[in-house]
Amino acid sequence: MNARRLEAVRQRLKTLRLDALLVTFIPHVRYLTEFSGSNALAFITRRTQWFFSDGRYSSQSREEVKGFRRIITGRGLFQELRRTARIAAGSRVGIDRRNLSVAEMQELRLLFPRVTFASADSIVDASVSVKDESEIDLIRKAVSLTEKVFLEVLNIIREGVSELDLAAEIGYLHRKYGAEADAFEPIVASGERGALPHARASAKKIRNRELVTIDLGCRYRGYHSDLTRTVALGRINPERRRLYTVVRDAQQLALDAARDGMTGKELDGVARRHIKSRNLGRFFTHSLGHGLGMQVHENPRISSQSNDILAPGNVITIEPGVYVPGVGGVRIEDDVVIRNRGHELLTTIPKELITL
Ligand code: ZN
Ligand code: ZN
Repeated sequence: MNARRLEAVRQRLKTLRLDALLVTFIPHVRYLTEFSGSNALAFITRRTQWFFSDGRYSSQSREEVKGFRRIITGRGLFQELRRTARIAAGSRVGIDRRNLSVAEMQELRLLFPRVTFASADSIVDASVSVKDESEIDLIRKAVSLTEKVFLEVLNIIREGVSELDLAAEIGYLHRKYGAEADAFEPIVASGERGALPHARASAKKIRNRELVTIDLGCRYRGYHSDLTRTVALGRINPERRRLYTVVRDAQQLALDAARDGMTGKELDGVARRHIKSRNLGRFFTHSLGHGLGMQVHENPRISSQSNDILAPGNVITIEPGVYVPGVGGVRIEDDVVIRNRGHELLTTIPKELITL
C-alpha cells in the first residue's frame, strides 16, 4: 500500500463529494495496491480500502497487496463487492467510465440500484501523471534495460536481415535482461517503409543505404520505457541525411525548452515550428510526445491541441518525426522527467546519426 497515493485519492473524494471510488482499470489498481495480476478491483471509501480478486491470485495478492481488506472470491468481482462492502443506499461512488464496458455499466446498475455512479476519471489520473522518485527510478531502470537491448540489436543489423528478425531479438533480449515484457510490439521500419510512422516489423529485408527506424520499449515492475532511434546502414544520400538533421535539431530544441509551467501545446510547437521552417511540416504527422509511466501513453499529452500544463514529476517522451513517401522516415525519441525549472534526460544514447 502506498499511503501517499491513497491519501491523494481521499482528498479528491472529499473535493468531489463522493463517498467512495471504484477502481476497475487494472494499471490504476496496480498503482494503488501494488497488485501485478490481470483481474482485480479496488474499492476505496473515505475510511477503508478493499481489494477484490479471484482464486488464481490468492497467494500472489497476499504477497503484493498490503493494507487493504483483501477478498478472494469465486463470484464475479462486482457481485462480491455488493456482498462484502455493503455500499449504503444513496451513496455516490466515483468510477472511470472510459475503462468500463457498456455491459459492466449495466451490471453495476443492476447490482446497485440505489447507488449513484459518477464519472471520476481524473481522480487517479491526476496522481499518476506526477511521479515520485521511486517511480522515476523504475522508469530509469526500464530505459536503461531498453538501451542495452538497442545497442545489442545494432550488432545484428546488416544487409539481408529482416525487420521481423530484429523485432524478435528485441523481445527476447528484453526478457533476458529482466523486463516483464515489451511495452508494445517493437516497430522496425526500413527504407521506404520508414515513411509509415507506426509500421509493424515486416518480412522486408534491410538493404544497404537505407535508414532504419527502431521504436522499442519494455515494462519493468509496472513502469515503461519508450525509445526510438533511426540508424543508417552504409552511406545514405544527402536527401535522407537532411531529413535526419532536421529531426535531430527539432528534437534538441524541444528538449532544451522542456520545463515545468509550459503547456503541451507550447512544447509541441517548438519542434513543429522548426520542422515547418525546413518545409517538412506536412510530413510531421503525429504529436510530439506523451506521458509515460504505468501506461505507455498517459497524461500529460504533448500535442498541438494539448492545454495540459507540465509539472515537476511528469515523465514524457519527446519524439518528432518526418515521414516522406518514397524516401523514408526519421524519428528520434527520448524519455524526460520534468523538473523544477527544467528537465532531466533519462535516455543516454547519442543522437548523432549512427551508421552501421
Ligand atoms: Zn516509441
Ligand atoms: Zn512514444
